[in-house]
Amino acid sequence: MSLEGKISRDLLINIADTLDSYRVRVLIDAKEEILDSGIYNEEQYYIILFKMVEDEMKKYSLYQYLNQIESGDLKLLKEFSKLHSLELVKTLSLLELLHNEKLVKVEYIFDNAIDETNESEEKIFKDIAIQSNKISPSEIKSIYEPVKVIFDSKICSGCGLCVGICPVNCIELNNGCGRIDDDKCIRCGLCYYFCPRTYLPVNILNMVQEHTSQIPPPSKVGFFSEAYSARTKIKEISDLCQDGGISSTCLYYLFDQSEIDYALGASMSENPWRPEPLLMKSKRDVLLTTGTKYVNNPNLSLMNKINGNTQRLAIVGVPCMMQALLKSEIYDLHIPSQNSVVYRIGIFCMESFSYESFLKICELLKVNVEDVKKADINKGKFFIYTKDEEEFNIPIKDITHLAREDCEVCYDLTSESADISIGSIGSPSGWNTVLIRTQKGKILYEALLKNDLIESKSLDTVKPGLPLLEKVAASKKKKCSTHIAKKKTEHIRTPSY
Ligand code: SF4
Ligand code: SF4
Ligand code: SF4
Repeated sequence: MSLEGKISRDLLINIADTLDSYRVRVLIDAKEEILDSGIYNEEQYYIILFKMVEDEMKKYSLYQYLNQIESGDLKLLKEFSKLHSLELVKTLSLLELLHNEKLVKVEYIFDNAIDETNESEEKIFKDIAIQSNKISPSEIKSIYEPVKVIFDSKICSGCGLCVGICPVNCIELNNGCGRIDDDKCIRCGLCYYFCPRTYLPVNILNMVQEHTSQIPPPSKVGFFSEAYSARTKIKEISDLCQDGGISSTCLYYLFDQSEIDYALGASMSENPWRPEPLLMKSKRDVLLTTGTKYVNNPNLSLMNKINGNTQRLAIVGVPCMMQALLKSEIYDLHIPSQNSVVYRIGIFCMESFSYESFLKICELLKVNVEDVKKADINKGKFFIYTKDEEEFNIPIKDITHLAREDCEVCYDLTSESADISIGSIGSPSGWNTVLIRTQKGKILYEALLKNDLIESKSLDTVKPGLPLLEKVAASKKKKCSTHIAKKKTEHIRTPSY
């Protein structure tokens, strides 16, 4: 579709002015810079622009609707959805934007209920309380600034998505630290819009994952339909993998069946134990990514290499990356690389380290980094195994201060926003714990079984199983809440979950 010549710039500016949308106006004004940078071609540029216009129009019509009333609730949102033929989840995502733009106040109300089977307390969703701030749209100041504010507040997860979608390629992420080239930045705010550490509508993410029109109660490991303990039967993978090799087996199968064209993951760079993002093109490449890496690695930064229309992409990554991808699906602006994602394969992550911190851990254990064969976190300790088959370990509590400060605000251990989540906690050594979260994840796992690529048992039948996983996940959530509360008392910016 070529729109060149069919839409005049004046008409576009009229649309932006009518909408009073700073975001739309910036995209129109910076057309030349965007096309010059070569990240998006003209057709892709217009598709993104028109999708943004469409979403801004929907958002302002919701705002006008809410402006007519003193206070609103879920019933009102359902009426709006019906009137505009929108799914409730879409209306909720627009409401979340209005809330973050400080145009409305939103409170999710939960009731406490006792679960009699295990005598624990559960939260049950009751309603949403909405209040419009009744601000005139002309007074609205854009909140969609460059993600420098996220870098500066030390809450960047290092997922790399901002680099992967920036239309003028002006963000650099190095060893978990971000930098924006101010001279090139067009201040379009796209990075802010998609970043999982600006605002992340967790309730909506959970609804999408559970495929429900109800708001699910908070849970320890997110929604999953099935849980297994599994390990690969592919020898090339089991020879190299850290635990059960299931994430590599998923990619191996998807390439083998030509279900994907590319996959994104992490491989080791030339510097020992310093990972780098890898764009995989074949099942041979998958073997370069086996093994757990504890150093932060922005896998999603390579998304800008995949802006073709027909490419199918699987992404293996940690929970913050899965959040970024699901948020991008909910706030879809037809960015080609984001629309190419066909599988989100999440891995468990407790925390990550900078490369310097990893070297420091080696130093504390008196191990030369070049001799490290495997690193692992297990039973509250950080283990290093050397090429000479020696084992070294240190209690996690003694190295927690070395973890990235930015990871302190991370609530998710198990990649709650993935199609399928894979990790080691809960399963015996040499096996993976696998949580199936979506229909896609289920079909993929069943295909691995059908093709005899994995051994699998119900997680209920293994020790320590789900109870341990839930315990560790709950402790990560608690730690995150404590850090967020502390930052708030110090008036430091926190993510809006
Ligand atoms: S969290 Fe991800 S998207 Fe946000 S600033 Fe950091 S790297 Fe960029
Ligand atoms: S850094 Fe962010 S605001 Fe600046 S051009 Fe890139 S995406 Fe837009
Ligand atoms: S702890 Fe969270 S923010 Fe940090 S790397 Fe892991 S998933 Fe990302």
